[in-house]
Amino acid sequence: MREEILLTIKRVPTVVSNYQEDASAAAAAAGGGCGRNCLGKCCLPVSKLPLYTLGSDPRRPVISPPTGEELPPDFFLSTLLGQWEDRMIRGLFRYDVTACETKVIPGVHGFIAQLNEGRHLKKRPTEFRVDRVLQHFDPDKFNFTKVGQEEVLFRLEGGDGDSNRAQFFESAPIAGATVSPSVVAINVSPIEYGHVLLIPRVLECLPQRIDEQSLLLALRMAAEGGSPYFRLGYNSLGAFATINHLHFQAYYLSIPFPVEKAPTERIPTARRSLGCGGGGGVKVSMLRSYPVRGLVYEGGSTLEDMNHVVAKSCVCLQENNIPFNVLISDSGRRVFLFPQCYAEKQALGEVSEELLVTQVNPAVWEMSGHMVLKRKEDYEGASEDYAGRLLAEVSLPEGRFQEVKKLVLEAAGMDIEDTNDDSLEPLLLLNNHAEDCLVASSPMKMEMDVCD
Ligand SMILES: [Zn+2]
Repeated sequence: MREEILLTIKRVPTVVSNYQEDASAAAAAAGGGCGRNCLGKCCLPVSKLPLYTLGSDPRRPVISPPTGEELPPDFFLSTLLGQWEDRMIRGLFRYDVTACETKVIPGVHGFIAQLNEGRHLKKRPTEFRVDRVLQHFDPDKFNFTKVGQEEVLFRLEGGDGDSNRAQFFESAPIAGATVSPSVVAINVSPIEYGHVLLIPRVLECLPQRIDEQSLLLALRMAAEGGSPYFRLGYNSLGAFATINHLHFQAYYLSIPFPVEKAPTERIPTARRSLGCGGGGGVKVSMLRSYPVRGLVYEGGSTLEDMNHVVAKSCVCLQENNIPFNVLISDSGRRVFLFPQCYAEKQALGEVSEELLVTQVNPAVWEMSGHMVLKRKEDYEGASEDYAGRLLAEVSLPEGRFQEVKKLVLEAAGMDIEDTNDDSLEPLLLLNNHAEDCLVASSPMKMEMDVCD
């Protein structure tokens, strides 16, 4: 019976959880908890989900070797992937992603194309406005508290930071102290092997919005992964997040992403004393010779330094209503930040027909060069030129990118040093401009499928 499911689930609407389409199923439940063994307040506090405690210490130098004595270096990844495969055997996925075709497109960048016909076949409207990066959490819409516990691989806890030793418990009752656990769950419509969701403090019902605490957990998960092929990503609202409940994504793909190989140009900055500490040693660069304009953060003496600068940057974008995507790369040692304007262009009718017909959602993975294509003809005809044109539509234009860059770096406590670079256009009223650039006259409903 399981096999039959695997064979027939190829063509279904894209959803990230098996509970997404029938939120009313909860109503049918009875007994202890809600009866569905969900991630809500009814069931999670009395659960005995597996637990992974992180061994990485965000206050230690990023390059320091793991100190968990007998643990193999791939302890986290092998635990995660082992649990993920177990859910696959149990038939919890909508299709078999390992059967999806993938190829590297010939050319300079080496874009990766995947044919994934299982993700898009039925469109459903997005459940929130795409012109607002920050929106309130709505408990009536689909959110991760409605997910069944069988979709969870484990709870993720920071540990005490002193023992520095990763641990995995097959079954761990939630201690009284853990009011709102963070969990790692499968994405039932995966785009790659090991595709999971990190949902920080699930019971707090946080909207899709970066804060320092949540980003640090994502960075620590990347560090714990300890592999350049295990990356985390984040899409803001308006940049192809489709669920307004705080989550990051992650998966394993053993090939460099084109953006990771792209040349960069260091932005000379001077650090202002903000009095808030943190962020020391983090260097920021711009992508060069890549179809999407973006910022690259690297260095810093500790993960907390990186976290501080990136979180401040993201919060700045959020507060200025600028949609963005984040790629956490190289075990948390490099972070790519892509402000984008696709939703705005689409609302203004400025997206080319060529891109619209492909129905590709340019979210964090596409921006990074892993193109998930939905139509066989696009996959077969995919060229570097095509991928470049597609991504260029999403990128901020040069003048606007320069404005946003300055805004973001200032927020992160950095002043751009004057290098007599006349490519820096005169700064207009930044905040006003940032608001103008998003059409905010009426709530927009767009047909968009789930790209998380
Ligand atoms: Zn429940």
